[in-house]
Amino acid sequence: MVGMGRLLDVGFGTRRRPTGAAVRHVFYTRKVGARPVVNRFELSSEVMGDVPNGGRDDPKFLCDAMLGSLARWLRFFGFDTTYLEPGVPDPVLADLARSEERWLLTRDRELSAVGPRTALVRAETLDDQLVEVLSRRALRPTANLERSRCGECNGVLEAVAREEIEEMIPAYVFATAPRFRRCEGCGRVYWQGSHSARIVARMHAIIQRLNV
Ligand SMILES: [Zn+2]
Repeated sequence: MVGMGRLLDVGFGTRRRPTGAAVRHVFYTRKVGARPVVNRFELSSEVMGDVPNGGRDDPKFLCDAMLGSLARWLRFFGFDTTYLEPGVPDPVLADLARSEERWLLTRDRELSAVGPRTALVRAETLDDQLVEVLSRRALRPTANLERSRCGECNGVLEAVAREEIEEMIPAYVFATAPRFRRCEGCGRVYWQGSHSARIVARMHAIIQRLNV
């Protein structure tokens, strides 16, 4: 039911009320159910153009259970990145990475030796991990959230007409945000604001370190 969803601050996973202080955090999403109802809609000039989510030749990643934050931020950078909860046996993880042609990223030295598409992540902090992974693959992503995937489920974000999501978001956001995108996987709605600006600033800082 529209209006019953949770409002999430995607960047840090904290819940926010849809009024008041929520203005400070703008990379919000609203969960509208396990699977969204797919409606036909026409793109209007108000809807952002479709920007490819990652390049065709970009590598894909699979993060193990210890690297959930890394997975989320690789998605922000636009990389197709899956993440598995704890409890998946190592051979299954390795087979999955191979079959889906993903690089398995892990903090587990033993698992990283299963290879051949595995990579040990040595860095301990998120920013250092991003620098390590991106530089090792010689990747030079842009700090552009319009290329990002859903941080929660890795779904592709598609432009959505304003009238499609009006009842799913706070009125002040509807009135001020110029464009919206919706995750084709989980139905969360994204728009840009001060919180996304902070994410972009952090992306810029990481990219700067790649160029050193
Ligand atoms: Zn999603």
